Amino acid sequence: MSQRLRANALLVLWALICSFVAGCDREPESREVTPLTGAIMGTEYLIKVIDLPEQFTLMQLDGDIAQLLRGIDASMSTYRDDSELSKFNAAKTTEWVAVSEDVVEVVEHALETSRITGGAFDITVGPLVNLWGFGPDQHPDRVPTEDQIQAEKARAGYQYIHVRKEPPALKKDKEDIYLDLSALAKGYAVDQVADYLESLGIADYMVEIGGELRLSGRNERGMPWRIAVERPTPGVRDIFNVMQLESNGVATSGDYRNYFEQDGQRYSHTIHPRTGKPIDHRLASVTVIAERCMHADAMATALMVLGADEGLALAREQGLAAYLIVKSADGFIAKSTESFEQYLDTNEP
Ligand code: ADP
Ligand code: MG
Repeated sequence: MSQRLRANALLVLWALICSFVAGCDREPESREVTPLTGAIMGTEYLIKVIDLPEQFTLMQLDGDIAQLLRGIDASMSTYRDDSELSKFNAAKTTEWVAVSEDVVEVVEHALETSRITGGAFDITVGPLVNLWGFGPDQHPDRVPTEDQIQAEKARAGYQYIHVRKEPPALKKDKEDIYLDLSALAKGYAVDQVADYLESLGIADYMVEIGGELRLSGRNERGMPWRIAVERPTPGVRDIFNVMQLESNGVATSGDYRNYFEQDGQRYSHTIHPRTGKPIDHRLASVTVIAERCMHADAMATALMVLGADEGLALAREQGLAAYLIVKSADGFIAKSTESFEQYLDTNEP
């Protein structure tokens, strides 16, 4: 997971702070809700529980959630040599390697996403992510040589990965395959926390990890949750549009937070598996709403790879609620699928 603590909170949560949002004056008074916060997966999390059932304390919840998140990080992080994923990556074998059910679930979803996106989403791009300086290998930002790119690209290919459920295991057809789950692990972690809250009977909550979200029910004002889509301008925090949501997963991918520049060119952390290079097009950010945050997270990254036209076409074909912000000559223009429109807050901005 991205250790660059470059602000990952792509969805501007301060939109929830009423003063930023027009029309808030008409909303009922807010109740006091203490958010649970912490750091995980190279980023931060923020969880709001509106009505805590009497038999639980916030402290219990805090401890349980922290433990849950540490467990996911311990199995899926490429920043830890001892994670299940790192052990699989390091294993020079084409035999089945035992992993937890969690890892199988995430890898299986990743492979399914690869299939529906024609390989735009591909967790085997890990070596390329590292080569471009966006992975755990710490080295100065620089553009790699064409030979280096081709060498790492030759290692990639989601079709070389297989999953088994009983007993849970992964297998690679080539020994040097290396997986990077950063594009969907945060979404998975969000879902796990949300599922945990629901198992306690909690119906009104917000779970956010590094900008990926799951919302349910109502906010502290007894209103639907209002979440801003950020203007995709590097170094600036501004609202581009506002969504109104009740029970959804939301994820955003963009080219404007995690990148480096060389000779005036911006190199993003999203890699096009076909070229082995960072994406280079006019699509600046993609926000996807789906029932499961992991799906939204994976698809947001995939649409980001595909670019505005292909991305929008695939989102439509999939019936996906997607909102794309595209660079234009004088700023940005938004393109969304029909199923997204119901979520746009008509009062805003
Ligand atoms: P963020 O981590 O900022 O929320 P994403 O969810 O889009 O953003 O994930 C980006 C990360 O996914 C990259 O840092 C990299 O580790 C990984 N990645 C890059 N390109 C791809 C790709 N084509 N398919 C799958 N994962 C990718
Ligand atoms: Mg993603």
